[in-house]
Amino acid sequence: PPLDELIASIAVDVPDFPEPGVVFRDLTPVFADAGAFRRVVDGLAAPVLTDPRVAALRTGDGDPGFDVVVGVEARGFLLAAAVALAAGTGVVPVRKAGKLPRERISAEYALEYGTATLELHTDSLTAGQRVLVVDDVLATGGTLEAAVGLVERLGAVVSAVAVVVELPALGGRQKLAPHSVHALWTT
Ligand code: IMP
Repeated sequence: PPLDELIASIAVDVPDFPEPGVVFRDLTPVFADAGAFRRVVDGLAAPVLTDPRVAALRTGDGDPGFDVVVGVEARGFLLAAAVALAAGTGVVPVRKAGKLPRERISAEYALEYGTATLELHTDSLTAGQRVLVVDDVLATGGTLEAAVGLVERLGAVVSAVAVVVELPALGGRQKLAPHSVHALWTT
């Protein structure tokens, strides 16, 4: 089946999680399925190769258009490491507050109730380095906006943002503009 149909058929909708009225898309069964996981990992990098915004950043046919993959804690880690391995790049974690041991920058962002903080080691990216930012779900976009902001504060260049699932009703893509957002399943 097409990848979006495959993901939709394996993902599990959980009503009233983490709170009443919210339908949580649980992707853990997708990651646990060997065939689906491989297609998801390949699918996250593939559209970057044909992204016209990224084309200007690419140096040749063998260049994926990014030098490193940044994954957002925690499910983004599962994806980012696999994408990086497949593409032949390294992987850098954007972590929740208090986890990174060395000099770091922080970004606070709004949640539905309250705020959260993401952090990035100051020396984990270099100026001009091209970054693919990966997470599992794009909802309101607050999380990825914060992650992109951290990457750019270090002078790195966001090639694109790639997610497995986009919930377009929540407007995350608009929040991330002008960056390219590639989603494998939009629902
Ligand atoms: P946002 O900041 O509103 O875009 O929310 C995105 C973050 O919340 C991501 O890190 C997701 O892992 C998580 N998230 C939001 N909604 C869902 C969902 O339905 N399933 C799984 N994760 C979700």
